[in-house]
Amino acid sequence: MQELKPIYDITPETLIEYEGKIASIIWFAGCPLRCIYCQNSDMVGGEGVITEKEALEFLSSRKGWIEGMVLSGGECCMYDGLPSFCEKLKNMGLAIKVDTSGIRPKMALELAKNGLIDTIALDFKAQKDMFETITGANAFNLFERTLKGLLSIDFDFSVRTTVYPEYIDESMLSKMATELSLAGYDGVYTIQKAQTHNPTTFAGLPTSRKEFAISKIESNIPLSFSGF
Ligand code: SF4
Repeated sequence: MQELKPIYDITPETLIEYEGKIASIIWFAGCPLRCIYCQNSDMVGGEGVITEKEALEFLSSRKGWIEGMVLSGGECCMYDGLPSFCEKLKNMGLAIKVDTSGIRPKMALELAKNGLIDTIALDFKAQKDMFETITGANAFNLFERTLKGLLSIDFDFSVRTTVYPEYIDESMLSKMATELSLAGYDGVYTIQKAQTHNPTTFAGLPTSRKEFAISKIESNIPLSFSGF
């Protein structure tokens, strides 16, 4: 039987995607969402080209240098083999961060509860009434289940939102920060500007021309900003 190829690409080394660690990034192919600002449309709609075995062999060759792994995509949580893959990475002594939209709560929570990963960066795409506009899927309830599930256990995670100001403005972000705070989240909420110069974004978005002032965002949880 032909081995599965769930992985689209590997970034051998990053110093910025896993805070405090030298890490590699594994980009999983496929994602059920179609975010308007997504720049990874080839990866999201495409097939993987790398097997687990090939990825592990590559990472073994970097043993002693890499401290952490970022599992991203696409949506890595859609890969059914993720728990056993994480176990293998853990056996190599690697810390693991998962990037997810929270679209598959069962998987994210299984990984977190069973100690198979160390942290999650959870994308808060939009509030309920805007979620489908931003992602193309009526799936806010799945994100919410992941958020609430993570808050109900003792697990380190962070939340972030990508902003294209024509769709998500300062007042919406203030409401999103309030929603997080009311749910019990008190960690850092990262707000990052969508990079839309790539013509392959799903919605073909032009560079935003709308004025956007981070000082107008009201929040009682700590904010951090990227790309503004
Ligand atoms: S930006 Fe959206 S569509 Fe693109 S990989 Fe992330 S969740 Fe999927």
